[in-house]
Amino acid sequence: MFDQSLIEGLVSQNNYYRDQKEVRELRNKAIRMSHKHHFENNAFYRKFCKAKGITEEVSPKDFHDLLVPDGVFKSYELENPEKEPLKFKKWVDGIASIKTDFIPKKTNSLEEMLEEYDRNGMFLGYSSGTSGKLTFLPRDGFTRSMIVRSYVEAVDATVKINKGKDHFVLGIPGKTFLQVGFNGRTTAEDLSPGNIFFAMKELKSDIVRIRMRGPRSPKEYAMNELIKRMMPGMENNAVSGLAGELLKRKNERVIFMAPPFLIVNTARYVLDNGLDAKLSQDSILASTGGFKGRKVTSRDDMNRLIKEAFGVDENRYIDLYGMTESNSIMVECMEGNNKHIPPWMEVVLFDDHMEPIEPKGKVTGYYGFLEASSRSFPGFIMTGDKITVDYDGCSACDKKTPVVSGIGRAPLTEGRGCAGVLSKTVGGA
Ligand SMILES: [Zn+2]
Repeated sequence: MFDQSLIEGLVSQNNYYRDQKEVRELRNKAIRMSHKHHFENNAFYRKFCKAKGITEEVSPKDFHDLLVPDGVFKSYELENPEKEPLKFKKWVDGIASIKTDFIPKKTNSLEEMLEEYDRNGMFLGYSSGTSGKLTFLPRDGFTRSMIVRSYVEAVDATVKINKGKDHFVLGIPGKTFLQVGFNGRTTAEDLSPGNIFFAMKELKSDIVRIRMRGPRSPKEYAMNELIKRMMPGMENNAVSGLAGELLKRKNERVIFMAPPFLIVNTARYVLDNGLDAKLSQDSILASTGGFKGRKVTSRDDMNRLIKEAFGVDENRYIDLYGMTESNSIMVECMEGNNKHIPPWMEVVLFDDHMEPIEPKGKVTGYYGFLEASSRSFPGFIMTGDKITVDYDGCSACDKKTPVVSGIGRAPLTEGRGCAGVLSKTVGGA
């Protein structure tokens, strides 16, 4: 039913360069197939569609109507899902299009609950907003493999990775259910297994939840005090660990990816301590997640810091844009530092009245997207971001897809994101 080979043909870097009319046809076909699958297998989605008079067969003019608000993925009414495992599983099964067949046990921690789902084939990756309520996305094996494929194809189209040889230095935890951590780790493992350094070993979801929403029980109050005392040490360790690894790789080609605040702090650490961590000229610096909750360093200042600390030119510093609900990442090309929409992603912008904006020229609106590659949940999402898309594309490189700029949160939506979580846990902000 779910046509995997159709998706695999779509999620390919060749499609950046092909005639976009042909790619659009392929994408439309994949979205229609994916919609039908979710309509048939997802109780929530079917109800959502039926309320709008949408049936299992759709055409591109219906696409903007298929977008599910991202709030759906945190709509469970439980403060601590691990304490009411059956109720939470019912919620997961309700929003998922693939059911997992197991009876969840009551666990002592959120982390153990997520591990139990993982063992049973469903990865519940999360992100968190300032309210501390975690957003969970249920991903089965195929959907996870599509994250890896989509990231690898998008990164490889831009950077040309020396597979199996390039060394990755990542400012993320090695083990975590935080979605950005999973995406970074699995992509690097696919591209260059065994050549990855992580700034920290592990980040437990229970700690993230306490940091984001505040402690709620005596046990959490005690934990929070402990975390607060350890926090400055954690950030210092992450920064000095990253700097130490880069120093070790001096004059080598390195791919250094981290939330921007960690790149800035690592560069400052190198400069303040008079260290020579100049990398090979063909190294890549990549940031993702913005400066949520932290003092923003301008792009010009980042370029200058990166050049001074690591000797890498500004065009080789690229920013990435992704989100927990998406299987894909928008990567800046090195020719023009423009963020390209992957050809397997359908972007829809909406105006203030939530009417779809015609995809022409340079337009700004509320950001929704359709991704056919999600099998275990409908990858048709209305996000809380407002972005600008230039449908005329990029004049600097050969890719033929539209580019995105001016990314921000829409007013009245909660600031959220993976860099926000890392900033509030590792960074102690
Ligand atoms: Zn470009």
